[in-house]
Amino acid sequence: MAEGVESCRRCGLYKTRNRAVVGSGSPDAGIMFIGEAPGFNEDKQGKPFVGRAGGVFDELLKSVGLERGDVYVANVLKCRPPGNRSPAREEIRACTPHLDEQISIIRPGVIATLGGFSMSYIFGKFGLKEDKISRVHGRAFPVSNLAGIERIVALYHPAVATYNPGMMGVLLEDFKSLGGLPK
Ligand code: URA
Repeated sequence: MAEGVESCRRCGLYKTRNRAVVGSGSPDAGIMFIGEAPGFNEDKQGKPFVGRAGGVFDELLKSVGLERGDVYVANVLKCRPPGNRSPAREEIRACTPHLDEQISIIRPGVIATLGGFSMSYIFGKFGLKEDKISRVHGRAFPVSNLAGIERIVALYHPAVATYNPGMMGVLLEDFKSLGGLPK
């Protein structure tokens, strides 16, 4: 799996990446967090959420008694869009088979989406009606499927707290809806 991602050329982002970012954490995790795409630091280190947003993410995990090793963290896109622009539709289409494979290997009880791109992809994949993140954040949606996923929790992207510190309270409250560790 990792090897396939690291040599992937399914979209143009391979031309500008330093490192593809596959994911990190426990392969037995009951919770899988899915972010948007690697940023500057992730692209350098080949690991998800290691920059400023990663610091916020660690704080949020800690607030509900979790550490990186308890969960699995991946992104919708495995390579950094230049200048941290938003993922393009064709990039999402080309890259998400990698994410689908990760989900089917890890089979977490809970998928927590971080931000709008992740919510949109995962809601579509599991047949949930798409809505604005401002309306669905902090809510857990039960799903039934053959992959063993029990619920999807929609969360704001941790980066929002880096440019709007007032959002930290909302994120802290929303993380409580993860409801502990399944599995
Ligand atoms: N933002 C993301 O969505 N993912 C990362 O890995 C880092 C920042």
